[in-house]
Amino acid sequence: MAVELRFSDKPAGRPLAPRRGLLFKTLVAGLVLLGPVLNGLAEEPGRAAQELVAAYKVKLSELAEWCDRRELTAQVEETRAWPRPRDPNKTYVSVLPRRVGRPALPTDAPADLVEWDTRFARLRRDQSNSLFELARQSICRHRASLAFELVLAALGENPDNEPVRRLLGYQKFRGEWHTLYEVRKLRSGQVHDERFGWLPKSYVRRYGQGQRRSGNRWINAEEDARLHHGINSGWDVESEHYTIRTNAGIEAGVELGTKLERLYRVWKQLFVRFYASEAQLIALFDGRTRGRPVKLPRYKVVYFRDREDYNRSLRASMPGIAISIGVYVESTRRAYFFAGKDSDRRTLNHEATHQLFHESRPVAPNVGAKANFWIVEGIAMYMESLREEDGCYVLGGFDDLRMQAARFRLLKDDFYVPLEEFTGYGMEKIQSDPRIATLYSQAAGLTHFLIYFDAGRYRDALVAYLSAVYNGCADPAALSALTGVTYANLDKQYRRIMETAGGTQPKSRAKRKRDQV
Ligand SMILES: [Zn+2]
Repeated sequence: MAVELRFSDKPAGRPLAPRRGLLFKTLVAGLVLLGPVLNGLAEEPGRAAQELVAAYKVKLSELAEWCDRRELTAQVEETRAWPRPRDPNKTYVSVLPRRVGRPALPTDAPADLVEWDTRFARLRRDQSNSLFELARQSICRHRASLAFELVLAALGENPDNEPVRRLLGYQKFRGEWHTLYEVRKLRSGQVHDERFGWLPKSYVRRYGQGQRRSGNRWINAEEDARLHHGINSGWDVESEHYTIRTNAGIEAGVELGTKLERLYRVWKQLFVRFYASEAQLIALFDGRTRGRPVKLPRYKVVYFRDREDYNRSLRASMPGIAISIGVYVESTRRAYFFAGKDSDRRTLNHEATHQLFHESRPVAPNVGAKANFWIVEGIAMYMESLREEDGCYVLGGFDDLRMQAARFRLLKDDFYVPLEEFTGYGMEKIQSDPRIATLYSQAAGLTHFLIYFDAGRYRDALVAYLSAVYNGCADPAALSALTGVTYANLDKQYRRIMETAGGTQPKSRAKRKRDQV
């Protein structure tokens, strides 16, 4: 097993950061929360969603005027600021509140304030329901990506929308939203502790005091650490979807589990058609599966205490391990990472993404060996960008460093391998190419293009392409066949989105003229 080289392509000179000009603001204001997928769609659900958003904005504006007449200054601002502007070249997944219900106003709140609160909440609730209805229609029209974009928007409007919550696997339990896994834990008398993960309630105080349970006795934390010093006798820390073998400490394992679960949650929504069939998806939206369309496996991760331990333990099976900062190994079905100063968030997301695509359903051996390898890496580089911004998990965007490198290579270095040729490259061809870092940058740029171009026009085709590649049945022409566009035209569209940073940069007069031709 060769260690995958991780390339952070750092072009010489200043990166091409997107400038947020006037055009950007105008675009965003028109697209708001639904952003990427709703603009420019020919099909009915897309148009209906655009109209829904437009009507919603009118109602919000009327409510803001109502507040203005009553001199509710703060509420005017809050209403006008809703929905929050969104960059159409990013994907937003709301961080969901645990508690059911909105925070209550103070009991002595003035009548006008109470009325505004009621009206605002009703508008958001109605909008959320309408968005979900459109999501269901989108599923019937085989538009899974649009459907999930609408589901996410519906939750952004009303995090307590029950059918949507159920669809995502949540249920109400003791006044909070929990997954089935969490409900089972809570019912068995366990609680989730931020530091130590799931524990019997009666253990929490003693863990806080430095005691640890070992078999049927209590020992102190130092002795516990000695017992788990080597990775072979390390702790097995469990989160909802991961089992983490670690000798970095229980707390470190729990922290890693939280990060992996965040990636899992976003991945599962974006790539639903990768692991679920059309029929399973329809059943999910009908509420017939109670949020469990497909049983996904538990993912296994090994987490070393530091780089030295990681290098020492893996060197025998992977001689080049020292140049990596994390690795997913197909044959052992495990991802390996280490704690400490050299560890890296992007690598974690990258390698864990490889694991999700490899293990969430049966896949062909040697994925991408003969052709189409670029998308295996491209999609992992896209998921690297996962971060938290303004109450949301955010992916993509022209400000991400992979996109800056991709634009620089294309626009300043004039480096580009046409898709006709690039899709024919297998793993070895790319990994032995001296231009590997630059090829990776192009893969990152092309993946982003397929996700965001023309309001997500190719997003379902991208997921189908990934499926075909992982099934081992994609030939080099697959992407063109799935998008219904020639490679020459995809090349042109890619250049255009990169030149304008997804429409967030004003075009030059010459380019505007060229586009009109
Ligand atoms: Zn990779």
